[in-house]
Parts: sequence; C-alpha cells; structure tokens
Amino acid sequence: MQTFKGIAVSPGIVIGRVFVLDDQHRRIPRRQVRPEALQEEHDRLWKSLGQSIAELNGLRESTRRQLGDEAAKIFQFHIGMLSDASLTRPMHERIDREQVTAEYAVYMGFDDLLRQFSKIPDASFQTKVDDIKDLSSRVLTHLIGEHKQRLDRMVSGIVVARDLTPSQTAAFDRRHVQAFATDLGGRTSHTAIFARALGIPAVVGVGHLTEAVFDDSAIIIDGDRGIVVLEPDERTLDEYEGYIEARRTLTISLGEVAKLPSVTTDGTHIQLLGNIEIPDEITQVIEAGGEGVGLYRTEFLYLVSNVEPTEEEQFAAYKRAVELSAGRPLTIRTMDLGADKATQERADNPERNPFLGLRSIRYCLQNLPMFKTQLRALLRASALGPIKVMFPLITSTNEMRQARYLLNDVMEDLEDEGQKFDRSIDVGMMVEVPSAALMAASFARECSFFSIGTNDLVQYTLAVDRINERVANLYNPAHPAVLRLIRDVVRAARRYNVPVSCCGESAGDPEYALLLIGLGLRTLSATPSAIPGLKRLVRKVSVQDCEKIARKAISLDSDAAATAYVRDQARKIIPELIDGRSAEQ
Ligand code: PEP
Ligand code: MG
Repeated sequence: MQTFKGIAVSPGIVIGRVFVLDDQHRRIPRRQVRPEALQEEHDRLWKSLGQSIAELNGLRESTRRQLGDEAAKIFQFHIGMLSDASLTRPMHERIDREQVTAEYAVYMGFDDLLRQFSKIPDASFQTKVDDIKDLSSRVLTHLIGEHKQRLDRMVSGIVVARDLTPSQTAAFDRRHVQAFATDLGGRTSHTAIFARALGIPAVVGVGHLTEAVFDDSAIIIDGDRGIVVLEPDERTLDEYEGYIEARRTLTISLGEVAKLPSVTTDGTHIQLLGNIEIPDEITQVIEAGGEGVGLYRTEFLYLVSNVEPTEEEQFAAYKRAVELSAGRPLTIRTMDLGADKATQERADNPERNPFLGLRSIRYCLQNLPMFKTQLRALLRASALGPIKVMFPLITSTNEMRQARYLLNDVMEDLEDEGQKFDRSIDVGMMVEVPSAALMAASFARECSFFSIGTNDLVQYTLAVDRINERVANLYNPAHPAVLRLIRDVVRAARRYNVPVSCCGESAGDPEYALLLIGLGLRTLSATPSAIPGLKRLVRKVSVQDCEKIARKAISLDSDAAATAYVRDQARKIIPELIDGRSAEQ
C-alpha cells in the first residue's frame, strides 16, 4: 500500500481500478496472449511501425519545406531507428518468447534501449534519450490509441494522468470516469473546476503518482481530503467504506437544508448563487438550494471543440440557460480563454507567462470578430429573460470602456437588423486583479456590478500560480493582503451603490464564507455542490460574529495565523463541515 498527498479539488470518495492516461510515463502492463493469437500481435507490431514511419516521412517533408534539410534530419534519424532490425527484431522475439502483447514488447524494447543510453555519461546522449521516448510514445500511440480512443474503450475506472487539459476533462463521460488524480495541477485550475462541474471526485498535484501506478491497480481517490491510496490494505478499505457511509448521511442531512431560506441568525439574507460551466448545471444549482447563477463561465463551448462555436450554437446555450433559470438571476461572463484554457493549448507559439499574457478580455479585444459573435449571441438571448453580462480580468478602465463600446456597437448592429434584445442590460466586471481592486471606486462609475474572483485575485496578489502544485502551499485566500483588497472593494461598492458578490472557488468553502460575510459580502456564488454547506453555515451564524472574525483575521500579520484562527472559529460554529477534513487544507 502507498499513500500520496495531493490537493483535494473535487469532493467525493471512490474506490476502484486505475486507468492510466499518460504519454510521458506510459507504463504498459504485461499482458499474456494465447499462442494462437501471437500472429495477430506480430501483425499489429508491423502495422504500428509502418504507420509511425509514414507519419515521420510526412513530418520530415513538411519540416524540410519550412525549415530546410538540416532540421529535417532529426526525422531521418527517427525513421532510421524504426527501420533498424536490431531494435525491432528483439520486439518480435519477445512476443514469441514471453507470449505477450505487441505494446508490451514495444514498451520493453524501447525501455532496454533507454537503459543502455542512460548509462552513457555524456550530455549529448540525453537528446538521444528524448528521441527514444518520443519514438516509443509514437509507436505506442498507434498501437493502443490516443487518449480519446483509449477513453472510448474504457468501461469504468479511475483516470490517473500526469496532467489533464481542461478540454480533456470537459470531454470526460462521468458514466465511465469515476474519479481522477494527476501529478500536476492546483485547486483553481480550470481542470479542477471542470471536475467539480461534472461531479467527478478528483485529487491533483499528487507528485509522482503516475510513476507508481499500472492499469488496473486498486486505488482510492479521496477528493475530500486530497489523498490517494494505491493498493489499499484491508484495514484502509474498511475505514474508507465507513467514511463513504458517514458522508452519505451528511449529504442527506445537507439536502434537507436546501429548501430552507438562506438567512443568518440575526436575520440577514445571504444570497447563494451557483457557478456553472454548462447550462444544464442550473438544475443542480436550484436543487442544491441556490437562488440563481452568479457566474456562468462560457468557455465550455470553446474547450470541447477545435473550431470556434458559431453564433447560433452560443445562442442556443444561452437560451437554454435563460429557460432553465426561469426568471432567476443569471450572470453570464464573456469568454475567459487563454492561460490554461484552450487558446494556449492550441497556440503555435505558447506564451512564456500565459497567466500574464493574452488571456481573457485582452484576448477578446484582440479578436474582435470572435468577441462580437459572442456578444451578439448574448444580447439576442437577453430578449428571452433577465441576463447580466460580465467581463473577466479587467485591469484598467480603458479595457472596460472598450468592452462596453463594443457591446454598444453590437447593439446597434442588432437594432439595424431588427433583432430583439435588452437595451438596459446590466454590465458588470470581475474584480480579480489587484489593479481593479485598488481602483474599485473608479470602476464603480463604469459598470453596474462587481464580482470578486478570488481564484485569480489570490494568484495575482500573492504572485502564486494557481495551477502550480509546487507553490500550492503558498496559495492562500485567507492571506490578510487578499482580505484587505476584498474589504476595500466591498467598501467602494457600498459607497457607490454597486452590487458586489464573490464567485471564486473559496466562496464555496464554509470557513472562507465566514470571512466573506464578515467583510460585507451578501452574495456568494459557488460550485453547486457547495451550496448546501454554505446554507448550513449561514443559518448558524450572525453577521456580527462574522464581522468579528473578519476584523481579527485581517489584523493578523501572517496568512498562517489568519488561516489557523479562522479554522478555529469555524470549528466552533460548524464542526460537522470542518472536522474530517485534513489539517493541510
Ligand atoms: C476567479 O478568478 O476567481 C474566477 C471566478 O474566474 P476563473 O476561475 O474562471 O478564472
Ligand atoms: Mg478568473
């Protein structure tokens, strides 16, 4: 049994079998085949080698055209290796000798070669090692398929991968993927957000998990506490089965809270809204006791396809959201592409610092036809029911003005075409960078509402990459610097009579929600599954208590002290929501 500690990003506990989804560290289990099926394995091996060589020929030609003969030589070297019988003959021999699959023979063949090269203490051989890994991965991909093809064949299991892109996660079918764990990643990565949206328990930032697992290993994913247990022993299995049962009971009791009003013990209404990625999640929000949608992230349509969604596709999604909301609040955020979302994955020249680069509203303002298409779809949907529009990652008043100007432009186009829309639609902005928070008073005159996005606000205030597991311990929304920014935004909003909410992931954490209420927030927007816990909290506290806790936390001089203090206070008020979680969270 091995236990790994990672970051809990999507709640739930699953006991099951591993399905490895990883190119770099792909480990192929040794599978025997019947003697009469050996010829088929030889044929598969020939075919995959032939397909790889054909692919490399194509790459060599296109590289030669674009970069010249020298650059193309690398592929000549690869083709030479794959055509070399001293590499491929032992693979065929292994199939016969050990009666194993072609993929296992290929994996072991390249592994032997890697071992030989790794022993040579000459730096120039390191590039050969990379070449061999690359070739091994290419041939294996032909033999056992790309991620997607592999996933299509998967019946049910727990995905383990070095990393997953948001689009890979978005494409998961929750009937087949019971849970997942990755070596890399942080709590607020968009991959983590999608896991929560899909209701798939997940642990990320586990470190070296992929190096320890094989397909079919027994595994426990504890998405509540950020723990992964490989090949658990009987005692651990018993413990976890007990925990799963206790969890089920708590979920039932929280379910009962869903229908009750969200009012503090001193009578203040705290509006609880949901964060969604796809319109159908609105049903989950309502079932969980949410009053509407505080953040509809509209990137989903871009993430699940390689082509830009059309105006009609976007309109259909927004129309569905309006219908499902049935008059409840619905805040739709314009696309927040870039950084770890879609555009970087597809870029020919990925940026060196994507979170500081062309992301979000900046990307939109440089891709006007694409942006206008979304605004058209949004405005057209506003004719069908109440919608608010929100722009992400606004850092200067100029950006806000430009975005509004474009929205007006699109309104005029629609008017000319005789299309209906809500002319007085509310237009707001995310406050998720320190510049926006510090200048909240100026922004208050530029827009009709604020939504504080702590996922990014924390990352940009503390200079901690939100998806880098190596610095995940430094990512702390309770840092007094962050709390002060939030307090100031709320003060400015009140002064100028601009509604303000918080929609970062931490708004869904009951402990943190205590602070947010204490800092003056009266609207919180969180992942749907977090809403019942939030409501339980709201119904057990008074605003006065929260204010006291926030005042003290904000006055402390370290984030560790603030976290410990808030944890302590929360434990007194809502022990059932705090205890049972690991001390590290
Ligand atoms: C945020 O930054 O807090 C936020 C809600 O936006 P996202 O997580 O989509 O970047
Ligand atoms: Mg953000």
